[in-house]
Parts: sequence; C-alpha cells; structure tokens
Amino acid sequence: HRSTAADPPDEDPGRAEFRLTSPTRIVYPDQGITKRQVADYYSSVMEWFLPEIAGRPVSLLRCTQGVGRPCFFQKHHTAGLENVDAVKLKEEAGNQADYLVVRDAAAVMELVQFNALEFHPWGAHADAPDRADRIVFDLDPGPNVAWADVVDAARKIRGLLEQLGLASFVRTSGGKGLHVVLPLNPGCDWDVVKPFAHGFADAMAQTEPLKFVATATKKFRTGKIFIDYLRNGRGATSVASFSLRARDGAPVAMPLRWDELGRVKSGAAFDIDSAPRRMKRWKAHPWEGIDAIRQDLDQVGDLLGADA
Ligand code: ATP
Ligand code: MN
Ligand code: MN
Repeated sequence: HRSTAADPPDEDPGRAEFRLTSPTRIVYPDQGITKRQVADYYSSVMEWFLPEIAGRPVSLLRCTQGVGRPCFFQKHHTAGLENVDAVKLKEEAGNQADYLVVRDAAAVMELVQFNALEFHPWGAHADAPDRADRIVFDLDPGPNVAWADVVDAARKIRGLLEQLGLASFVRTSGGKGLHVVLPLNPGCDWDVVKPFAHGFADAMAQTEPLKFVATATKKFRTGKIFIDYLRNGRGATSVASFSLRARDGAPVAMPLRWDELGRVKSGAAFDIDSAPRRMKRWKAHPWEGIDAIRQDLDQVGDLLGADA
C-alpha cells in the first residue's frame, strides 16, 4: 500500500499509510468536505471506531458521487478489497455469500478509499453469526415529535430494562433519533432475541399508545415514536458508533453517557468536526464497562409475552 502522487505522505508519522485516490473530491457538497477530510476523520477516531466493527459482518453505505447523489448499501465482499476479510455466511435463501469483515485500520481505510461513508455492523460476530451480542432499540420519531420526547423514550426503555435486571447504553444515530443498545454476554440466539425485542416494543406501544408505535407502517406515526425493533435479526444492521452519516452536515453516530443525554440537542448533534474534538478530551469511552457486563435473556423468559 503505497502513496500515489496525488496523495503525499501524511505529516503524522503514526498514521498508517494508505492509498487515497481523488482526495480533493467533494463528498459533502453543502459543507465542501472532501474525501481527504473523510479519510482524516476516520483515521483520527480509529482507536474508538475500529472496536465497534472489528470482527463483525459489516454493511457499507457507499457514496461514489457524494452525499445528495444516490448512495448504495453493500453487504458482500467484492474484488479489489485486499485488506478486508471475506467471511462465508449462509443467507436466508439457503445459499452462502462472502460478507465483509474488518479486522484492522488498514481495512477501514481501504473501505474509505472505496467511498464507504457509513458502516453498519451486525449485532453478532462473524465467528458466531447466529448469536446476538447486541440488541438495538432504534427510536424513530415521526413528524411533530419533540426531541425531549425522544430523550424520554430512551430513558423509559432504560428504566424498563433495568427492571428486568438489564443494563443498556445510548447513542445518537447521527440522524433523527437515538439508539438504546443492550449488550448480551453470553450471546443469545436470534430466535430468542427477535421476539424479545418485538414483544418489548409492543408492550411499550400498548402501555402508551399515544406516544409509541411498534408497527412498521408509516401512516400512524405522526406525533409518535416508532420503537424500531427490526434491527434485531440475523443479517440486520444498525449504524456503528462513530460512523459518519451520508446526510447534510456530516453528522456522526455518537455514544453518550446516560448522564449527558439531557444536554444533547438532537440526533445529529455531533458531526465530523465536533465529534473528534469531543473525543480528544476522553479518558474513557462513554460506554465504559460494556464488555465486562454479563447478562442474557434467560431470566427474562416470557415476561413480556414475547412468544415466537
Ligand atoms: P435515524 O435516527 O434518522 O432513524 P438510523 O440510522 O436509525 O437514523 P433508520 O432508517 O432508522 O436510520 O435505520 C436503522 C438502521 O437500519 C440503519 O442504521 C441501517 O443499519 C439499517 N438500514 C437502513 N436502511 C437500510 C438499507 N437500505 N439496507 C440495509 N440496511 C438498512
Ligand atoms: Mn432510526
Ligand atoms: Mn429505524
């Protein structure tokens, strides 16, 4: 992996060298943010970002013509990716396909060179794809929902999970909403996780039908928050913490401590500039301790009427 003429070696000797073509190409037209700046972002947050996706199948949102032009989701490995592992996994149709698995910084930077802007991991590792180790409750506010209500919804989920003895974590999506993340260790089969997440969302919608919906149809969502439980199945993804979003303003999905959620103004409160500034001050990840937590769904059983 050598530099090209268009890509002079970086001043920072600690930075892994990688090939970057068209570094001056504009990726975010409204902000004038270039491909070089996107690459600089990912290398500057690498120590935090890499663990979020390493070893998991990951889907990419690739934007070859920049934000505002059509982007496409890619979940399969393709020719030309030298640093990204191809891991064979079975698909719903019964066939096998090569999935993308990142293991190091060089793989991330190769994908950036391939115009990947967003990174969306599975809630499972590639070596145990049938065992979920992260459940994501994706809070999607419909039209006319105040941000304070999205925050309240996240806290409500946290409180309900706490009653079940389960610790959870929160992040901004970089878009409209929040994600509440529930780690499982040991991991749990998707056929347990999926009905649990669905039953949990249904229970919230039944208890407070004016605030929450748990059905995927869009028409009943005005003024309500959709508790999107559909992120929780084999092959489903949600955006990685620290991933850029292909949306105006170059926002970033940002993990938070629960005690700082009240000071955050929106799902897109952090962006390509403010995120690294915030992270430079960190001594610890806002989700510090998540990997040491031992909890699973065994003790929950059918508490929520979540029968498959
Ligand atoms: P927002 O807060 O604006 O809802 P979000 O990232 O939660 O941002 P959603 O539309 O709720 O966006 O989608 C949730 C997740 O579903 C995404 O993060 C992504 O991983 C997955 N997803 C969305 N669109 C696609 C797609 N076309 N193909 C595959 N997965 C997708
Ligand atoms: Mn969402
Ligand atoms: Mn959603």
